[in-house]
Amino acid sequence: MTPRSILHVDMDAFYAAVEQRDRPELRGKPVIVGADPKGGRGRGVVATASYEARAFGVRSALPISQAWKLCPQGVYLPPDMEKYARVSDQVMEILHGFTDLVEPLSIDEAFLDVTASRRALGDGVTIARNLKERIRRETSLTASVGLAASKLVAKVASDMRKPDGLVVVEPGTEADFLAPLPVRRLWGVGPRTEESLACLGVRTIGDLAALAEDRLDRKLGTHGQDLLDLARGLDDRPVVASADEAKSVGHEHTFSIDTASADVLRRTLLALCDQVARRLRNHGLRARTVTLKYRDETFRTLTRARTTPDSTNAGDALFAVVWELFQGVHGPRRVRLLGVSASGFGETGHQAGLFAQGVRPADRLRDQITERFGEGALVRASVLDPGGADDPSDRRGSRRLLR
Ligand SMILES: [Mg+2]
Repeated sequence: MTPRSILHVDMDAFYAAVEQRDRPELRGKPVIVGADPKGGRGRGVVATASYEARAFGVRSALPISQAWKLCPQGVYLPPDMEKYARVSDQVMEILHGFTDLVEPLSIDEAFLDVTASRRALGDGVTIARNLKERIRRETSLTASVGLAASKLVAKVASDMRKPDGLVVVEPGTEADFLAPLPVRRLWGVGPRTEESLACLGVRTIGDLAALAEDRLDRKLGTHGQDLLDLARGLDDRPVVASADEAKSVGHEHTFSIDTASADVLRRTLLALCDQVARRLRNHGLRARTVTLKYRDETFRTLTRARTTPDSTNAGDALFAVVWELFQGVHGPRRVRLLGVSASGFGETGHQAGLFAQGVRPADRLRDQITERFGEGALVRASVLDPGGADDPSDRRGSRRLLR
């Protein structure tokens, strides 16, 4: 069996990097995100420190009061989680352009299994480089990537050369790669286990790998066997796509200016349906229930849903339902936000590979082009807006929802 190509993608100093990106005056300065929104140096812990702040010893999870002592000249900011979630959505969207098998671990890191993508997109290293480049180009942020045949090794690798790193661990070299690292780098080794292992004279992963199994068993029980496997680089856990547990898939768009233009509203809904349909197909899902979210300029928010007898993952079919729902709620007021989501995933096609059924060739072609060239590369002719301000493919106002 050919070894898998697993990527671990980890955004660099994520919250701080987003703030430095959006506020050029903060670039090159120590930025600490996690301050008490009320100000002062009393409460809160460091969520993310920029690399400039790390030079002062400021680290994630450090109490803000201690960070102040280490780095009084730092710029302390409260977290803007809504903004980070938006950027995270954008990054996850990019990752989904390389494989359906994306397993987010947190807001700023994910595993990808790109084994099946190698035929179309090049070997693991090529995919990793292209993925880093797309993140940089589309978000102006950097990610560090580890490439290996297992999740464990990919995760350790991504952390080795931050920021903007790419560390490749060739199959067969895992044990050598891990050997010099401290044992706490292995999953499942907390301070307690670290102490127990120290009693056996084990400090590095290499020490652990060399240990006789029975000695470890006596000390740590079955946990010991798992650790030994990990220390030898043996980890066959699969990457599990998040949509396997998702209850609904949706997109929404907030207009930069509230609008009453029937044309803009219609085109926005069409584009949202296309985005939702593409996401369904990416996850091998078909949905029976379509929900419209509608918010007018007075912030009155309505949702309307309809369940159809047949499941679908085609943009036109979603739009036919959404357009009827929209006409049922739309009044004289201007519209602030529109959202479309799909749920009620049937057993049919809940598996990648079956999902092509019933999808028009045009939808499939659009997916392929979007995956190759990025979101917005191909927009339905009827969606194109010469004004551009309310172009729904403009992601400043759009948000991917995965619940
Ligand atoms: Mg990170």
